[in-house]
This record gives sequence, C-alpha cells and structure tokens, in this order.
Amino acid sequence: MNEILEVKNIGKKYQSKAGEVQALKNVNFRVKKGEFVSIIGPSGCGKSTLLSIIAGLEEKTEGEIYIEGDKVEGISSKIGYMLQRDCLLEWRNILNNTLFGLEVKGIKTKENIEYVKELLKKYNLYDFANKYPSELSGGMRQRVALIRTLAVNPKILLLDEAFSALDYQTRIMVTEDIYSILRKENITTIMVTHDISEAISMADRVLVLSKRPGTIKDIHKIDFEMENRTPINCRQSPKFSKYFDTLWKELGVNEK
Ligand code: ADP
Ligand code: MG
Repeated sequence: MNEILEVKNIGKKYQSKAGEVQALKNVNFRVKKGEFVSIIGPSGCGKSTLLSIIAGLEEKTEGEIYIEGDKVEGISSKIGYMLQRDCLLEWRNILNNTLFGLEVKGIKTKENIEYVKELLKKYNLYDFANKYPSELSGGMRQRVALIRTLAVNPKILLLDEAFSALDYQTRIMVTEDIYSILRKENITTIMVTHDISEAISMADRVLVLSKRPGTIKDIHKIDFEMENRTPINCRQSPKFSKYFDTLWKELGVNEK
C-alpha cells in the first residue's frame, strides 16, 4: 500500500463570541507516499485549519485522519510543520538550531546528529554551522528551517504559506531549493499557498477548496511530462498557463 494519508469526512466548527463558524465541511482526500499536493482556496476558507487538523494540533468536529493506516489522535509525531516565519532561534547557531527538534523529542542520538550534519553538507549549509541566523539570508534561513524539520524524520511535511514572507526573487530560488531537497529525500508534502503559480510549479496534484465552509471543489492532476522537473522549468512550460487559467477561473468563481 503506498497511500500514506487519508483525510476522511473532516468538518470543523469554531465556537467564538460572535457565534459558531463552520470552517470546514466534508473534506475528503488521500495522499500517496512521496506525492506533492498543493492546496489553494480563497482567504479564510479553512486551509490553515485543515493543516492544523492533519497535524493533530487542532481538534476536528467531524471525521478522521489516518497516517499510514493509523488513526491520528492528538499531536502526531509523524508530521513536520513549516510556517511562514522560519522560527529559528536567534541565540543558537545553525547546527544547534537544526538539532533543536531532536532535543525536544529526546532523540539527539549520535546517529541522528550525523544525519543532520549530512543534510547540512548535502545542501551547502555546513560551512555556516557555527554562524547565527541573523548572519544568513532569508533563503538560507528557510533551508535551515527545513533541515530542522526533516531532522526528526517526519512521514509527511506540511507547509503553510511557508514562502510568502520572502520577496519574489528569493521565493523563486527558495522554492527551487526546497523542491529539490524534498524530491531527493522523497518527502510526502502538503503545501498550502495563496499563490496559484507556486502551487502548480511544485505539485503533482492541486486541491481547490471552496470558500468557507471549505470543502473540496476540485482536484487537478498536474503533469508536465518532464524528466528533470523543477519549479522554474514548469513555469516555462507551455502547459503552465493552461493550468493557471483553469485554476484562476475556478478560484474566481469561488470568490463571488
Ligand atoms: P485560511 O488559512 O484558508 O485563510 P483559516 O483556516 O485560518 O483560513 O480560517 C478559516 C476560518 O475559521 C476563518 O473564517 C477564520 O476566521 C476562522 N477561524 C480560524 N481560527 C479560528 C479560531 N481559533 N476561532 C474562531 N474562528 C477561527
Ligand atoms: Mg492560512
């Protein structure tokens, strides 16, 4: 079985002073091992809520989440989560930042430390191991944040608007780097973004959520039929604008 995640009939209602807010309704999808899935949808449609539920950080009102066939109850140790802010600790050097997750989980073994060092070497950060986050560019900081997340060996990586704080050019370069790392390490990834181009350039499938209460409106298979696919190559492919038009129209209709 190469299915790694099942999201089954997820619904979510928030209780607030202003009353009840139905954020998600009947959300169903499955993800295969190694797959890259992007999720787009209008602002406030429940994208972040959905990721938090998959991670077990937020309670769901209805439905179930299964990772490798096991029902998720509470915070799942099989999930890595990256947000818009890289959340690096300014007082720790780069190596100690990347080891932080291992420390928190109490698994800072010799073997795991070696794995982190290997990742730093492989992705050209080892020379910066003794530097501090403030000495690194925004793009390098995001790479460090990714390695810190991968250090604990998550089965699924969740990215919530992880690149949107970066300026446009940096974002293009960072997505190129991050994509290459994720593919090489064969990490199953679910990425929420408001950027249609970013979604298409990285994904095997794009899930479109409707406006609130968010439910799956459509799932688009993305296939550029390229041997050495990279986000930049995809952006230059003639197929790119076709995918873009389709998704753009679909989102536009939603926003009415
Ligand atoms: P998105 O990430 O797609 O922009 P969110 O998942 O952040 O959307 O939010 C979905 C909806 O749920 C929004 O209407 C938001 O205001 C509401 N919401 C999110 N978190 C809470 C909360 N803790 N309490 C009440 N309402 C919330
Ligand atoms: Mg959000």
